[in-house]
Amino acid sequence: MAQPSPQISQTLPEHWQYISEGGATVVLSYSGPPNPIFDKTVLRLRKSVGDGSNSTAHPMPSRACGEEPDDPMVEFQETIIHRLIPQAYLPRLQTVSVDADWLSRISTAVEAARPYRRREKDHIDLTKRKAILGTDLVGSEPWAVEIKPKWGFLPSPSHLSPESLLIKRTTCRYCMHSHLKSLRGEATAEAYCPLDLFSGDPDRIGKAIGCLWDAWVDQKGRVNNLKVFVEGEIVEPHDNTSMDNLRKVFDHNQLDVQNVRSTFIQTITSILQSTPVLATLSTLQRSLDALDIEGLSSLYSRLNATDRTDWWSSNLLLEPTISEYSSFLDLFLESHSSMDHANPPVTADIARYYTLAYLLSATFKDCSIILRPALFSPASMKSTVDEDLRSSPVPIIDLDMKSTRKFPAWDRLDRAIVDMYRAVEPEKRRICLDGAQPTSTC
Ligand SMILES: [Zn+2]
Repeated sequence: MAQPSPQISQTLPEHWQYISEGGATVVLSYSGPPNPIFDKTVLRLRKSVGDGSNSTAHPMPSRACGEEPDDPMVEFQETIIHRLIPQAYLPRLQTVSVDADWLSRISTAVEAARPYRRREKDHIDLTKRKAILGTDLVGSEPWAVEIKPKWGFLPSPSHLSPESLLIKRTTCRYCMHSHLKSLRGEATAEAYCPLDLFSGDPDRIGKAIGCLWDAWVDQKGRVNNLKVFVEGEIVEPHDNTSMDNLRKVFDHNQLDVQNVRSTFIQTITSILQSTPVLATLSTLQRSLDALDIEGLSSLYSRLNATDRTDWWSSNLLLEPTISEYSSFLDLFLESHSSMDHANPPVTADIARYYTLAYLLSATFKDCSIILRPALFSPASMKSTVDEDLRSSPVPIIDLDMKSTRKFPAWDRLDRAIVDMYRAVEPEKRRICLDGAQPTSTC
């Protein structure tokens, strides 16, 4: 039976503190008087762009009238993601109701805390009447780190074009995309390679964390692959007071910048070596994206006898329902490992199968993990740490459902990334190593 929706309107807007935000949601943590429902929780509010009448492009089951459906993220995680990721890695999520007046007041209250670059682009969606209540993963911790690792594999060569084969098999998607972003003047951790982070090799993991740290410092926290929190508050690397808070949790007020960096790298590397979470994500990303977008494009082109630019104009644009995802997973879990992905049959059902697989892969390419070092310290192993925290040591967040409407943009971006990287002289192209291979540079 569904649980009754907590009445968030019983709390005051000032009881919720801004933590951070991504492309789709603003995250607030509860800091009001003790309340058994809202203590140690965060509230995720959907954002919208423009004049507030249009929500951001996330798939939402349509209905002609009546009550607004629950945010699809909750059902998607409970019904679909749960079959691919062990429960221990998934934070608890619950739908809550929000009324217009309360939402308007909280939007006004938190607006000043939001980064200017975000406020310029979007705002809390005032048309929503549902939000997501989840476990507060960072608020009750001395310090915590959020990493968005991105793509952790090189694509299978089976469906790559002659123009892209060598480039895509040499340089990973993130590194090529980062090069493009850099040319466009966008914030990016250009030296970071996800394949190092995913490698399982301590030197390569340390190198990746160091690159994320350097980009975080150099670009004043604007790179979205790394966020650092001290007692629930985001650390601003260009703010001395904020960085002092991080030094204090390291128990070394006098640490210079380099020592803070090396302590950070050692701590995070050690945690990542102790958990299979990245290996799980990489395996899912790789297996679900079995064709690369070029292979999926080719499959649709052959099916519809159209060229690459038209392949998404067919029924591909239908958003999958939860029921369709469930049926897909039945087949995926039973047969995917034995299917011949190099030679898929050209049928509508198979094209749809790989479409849903690609969408799920995109979810795992765009999620983040939360690391809470205190949980891994020797002292905490002996202490009475909250059982809820202990049972989920490295949670995965932002496992949002992706929309089929993104396929045209993904396809264009894939070509733009490869075209731009082809202009890099071959000897200057980055060599990204897929798997736990040693590296000589650090
Ligand atoms: Zn790379």
